[in-house]
Amino acid sequence: MAWSGYVNHIAHGVKSMNQELDKKLVKDFPNLYADRYGDMRGTCMCWGFPGDGWEKLIRELSEKLEKEIVELKQKYPDSEYPPRASQVKEKFGVLRFYMSGYTDSMKEAIGEACKKSWVTCEDCGNPGKLRNMGGWYYTRCDTCWEELKKSYGYKEPGFFATLWDHIIYWVVDEFWWKVKSLFKK
Ligand SMILES: [Zn+2]
Repeated sequence: MAWSGYVNHIAHGVKSMNQELDKKLVKDFPNLYADRYGDMRGTCMCWGFPGDGWEKLIRELSEKLEKEIVELKQKYPDSEYPPRASQVKEKFGVLRFYMSGYTDSMKEAIGEACKKSWVTCEDCGNPGKLRNMGGWYYTRCDTCWEELKKSYGYKEPGFFATLWDHIIYWVVDEFWWKVKSLFKK
């Protein structure tokens, strides 16, 4: 991808959640997102959330995490720094969710949500899949992918030109989560 394309990606390609949805998450899960408006020197939560299409799965995950944080706070009322979200973002087309501390069940819930993001359009929430645009990865449904390509004037190379990508995608899709689950226990 040319340099101008790269700049374009930085300017437009990274999705941020609609402000209303963003505010609502912070309001509904005040313990989990206690650092949403924190200083950028102390937290990455100040950058907000990824695209609207993932709001539902972030919300489902937040419900579980918030509940657990509230329980932890009741159990350890003297704890100065209960777990909270430190960064929620998209990386290589997949949701990444970082916290200041985790329990095993929190880790598991986060893993589940990230797995779902892998097949959920980050734009609209419909079923999607991982796409590659000149080395940048996006999870999009067919419609949003067409729109994204059009907005960049990107022409997809033919199947054989990207055979290697197809192979990698297939291997990762088929085996990665299985391999990961083998090492979990
Ligand atoms: Zn879509």
